[in-house]
Amino acid sequence: FDESKKGMVEFRNVSFKYPGAEEYVLKNISFTILPGQTVGIIGRTGSGKSTLVNLILRFYDATEGQVLVDGVDVKEVKQEDLRKRIGYVPQKSWLFSGTIKSNLKYGRDDATDQEIVEAAEIAQALEFINEKPNKFDTEIAQGGTNVSGGQKQRLSIARALVKKPEIYIFDESFSALDFRTELALRRKLREKLKDSTVIMVSQRVATMMHADQIIVLDDGELVGIGKHEEL
Ligand code: ATP
Ligand code: MG
Repeated sequence: FDESKKGMVEFRNVSFKYPGAEEYVLKNISFTILPGQTVGIIGRTGSGKSTLVNLILRFYDATEGQVLVDGVDVKEVKQEDLRKRIGYVPQKSWLFSGTIKSNLKYGRDDATDQEIVEAAEIAQALEFINEKPNKFDTEIAQGGTNVSGGQKQRLSIARALVKKPEIYIFDESFSALDFRTELALRRKLREKLKDSTVIMVSQRVATMMHADQIIVLDDGELVGIGKHEEL
């Protein structure tokens, strides 16, 4: 990795179709996200937002074109090294059976208790964790059935924060939260992650007022790029 490009994400003429599929779901996408920027990816359901972030994590390889992280083609990087650099909160957040604490430490074994508490606080999860009799030692049931959808999302966000990566990707990570919790969480994240690269996927442009750049997808095509007030 090139240190001066740490936190940079670039797409160069990327097209993608899922293995075995006929249709391209991303078509000739190019953009650059500079280190430390907060960028929104917006578009209707099925427009290709999750697919786009999947290519950054290299869950799939671009069919054509190049995806670069920190200035390096992701195909040239060990998957493990790539994923260490990225804190990813998937659209469907997941927990494993084990304590809340072990779930939050996943990806960073050496995290201290203080870091874990701080991450939970930012993710607006501290209150409900502390209401549980065993707090951070609460056992998560198989499949996370003993926490609500919104709690699961907040734990998943806290996990990404504990990891302290250089790039954060939030794929519709606030969809199960009430308005006030979402607002508080977004404010905290803005403060905490102001020097990190942050990619936020959302269906609504209204949630992206503070983004440095918004990328608009429609049916796999990049149809707009700019600031909130320009779109
Ligand atoms: P949403 O807002 O509903 O999450 P999205 O913008 O994230 O939508 P994607 O999930 O990226 O959209 O899907 C883009 C297109 O790719 C859709 O037509 C979808 O059906 C297709 N698709 C998504 N995942 C797969 C897959 N694993 N295999 C084949 N096609 C897929
Ligand atoms: Mg999606």
